[in-house]
Amino acid sequence: MLPRYIVFTVLLVFYHSSQAALPELEFSLHKNGKAKTGPTMLLIGGIQGDEPGGFTAASLLVTHYRITSGQVWVVPNLNFESIIRRSRGVYGDMNRKFSRLKQTDPEFETIQKIKQIITSKDVDIILNLHDGSGFYNERYIDRQHNPNRWGQSLIIDQERINGQYGNLGEIGKNIVNKVNRVIRQPLHRYRLKNTHTALGDKEMEKTLTYFAINHAKPAFGVEASKNFLTRRRAYFHLHVVEAFMEQIGIGYERKFSLTEAGIKKAMYDKLQLAFYNNKVLLDVANARKRLNYVPFKKNADIHYFSGNPLVAVISSNDRFNVRYGNRNLTYLKPSYFEYDDSLTNLKMSVDGQPKYVRLGSIVDVNSHFKVHRLQGYRVNVIGFTKKGVRDESNHDIKLENIRHRYSVDKQARIFRVEIYQGKRYCGMILVRFNSMERTT
Ligand SMILES: [Zn+2]
Repeated sequence: MLPRYIVFTVLLVFYHSSQAALPELEFSLHKNGKAKTGPTMLLIGGIQGDEPGGFTAASLLVTHYRITSGQVWVVPNLNFESIIRRSRGVYGDMNRKFSRLKQTDPEFETIQKIKQIITSKDVDIILNLHDGSGFYNERYIDRQHNPNRWGQSLIIDQERINGQYGNLGEIGKNIVNKVNRVIRQPLHRYRLKNTHTALGDKEMEKTLTYFAINHAKPAFGVEASKNFLTRRRAYFHLHVVEAFMEQIGIGYERKFSLTEAGIKKAMYDKLQLAFYNNKVLLDVANARKRLNYVPFKKNADIHYFSGNPLVAVISSNDRFNVRYGNRNLTYLKPSYFEYDDSLTNLKMSVDGQPKYVRLGSIVDVNSHFKVHRLQGYRVNVIGFTKKGVRDESNHDIKLENIRHRYSVDKQARIFRVEIYQGKRYCGMILVRFNSMERTT
């Protein structure tokens, strides 16, 4: 399914002279929903790179929600380079760059771009998702629960501003009450924290939310506690985001159950990565630590796409590291080829049924498959060998005929079928053996 709301994703092509260059890591904006059908919420994740609860929740709004009335604009990866490098801020704290900033700051352009989005006339309300330490409490209870902690709080800079949704304190109280109905553990409940920024909080004056309210945009900071695992932080964040959507009348459908298990599943259910317009397709959700001989394009810059806004490829010596948010998915060791574009699909027999399969797609197999011979081309099923056979077409191949360690995934179910014309690479198909092998 093609998400119709994606406006732009990470810049994918980047040219450089000698060595294959990668695109720069820039944030993406995803517009989910239709304009003029209701209010527009701007949701921001990852202003600090080491707060995965916030950016995971924001990213799920892109990949696993459908907005049925109103709009949610999502920037799930504001500080993308720091997210990918698992740093709070590779160039310092980005959330202190919203009042004054030198033009020479490496993040100057990023800040200008996000300020433009924040002040866009379409945006009605803004949430900035964070993971904070401990548990905020108005009173000192212990080291983890006191006024200097941030976790499990909803933050406002002041009680009110002018305009629609300007009653920040009142809205905040409603949200906190609503979310707390599903939180049984009293110490995990949300609290409203007013930083009274305008009364002289020099640090908070430099933040995104304070910039927003000074441009007449209602804005809230949302903090989940860093004491929890990522999926539980995302669980709390999503409760808060949904409470806001309900409060201001944004309609939504969620495509997973809002539980920690449901979040974990959703985080990994669509993690594909394609290079050079699907010439190379990998399912990286559960990839092996290293994938070797990945057929990259000779003398060309690296061009990739993932439907998930937290996936990126960075170079690492002679290899490439596939990252997902703060996590490492796999390393790719490329082999370089000239590419050939003469084929778009292959004729295969899958469990005895003949069919045409598009290059750059995944085909599900229950017991066996065969690629039909094609004059002038050579098929290579990675991990399958038969003595004296160079072209592996016209062989019925079962899971047990392929060496497991050549699989893409750790479970040894997904294998690469590559096709070549002479020395030129034409494309690949992923064959995925189902876990229920033979039911009869
Ligand atoms: Zn933060």
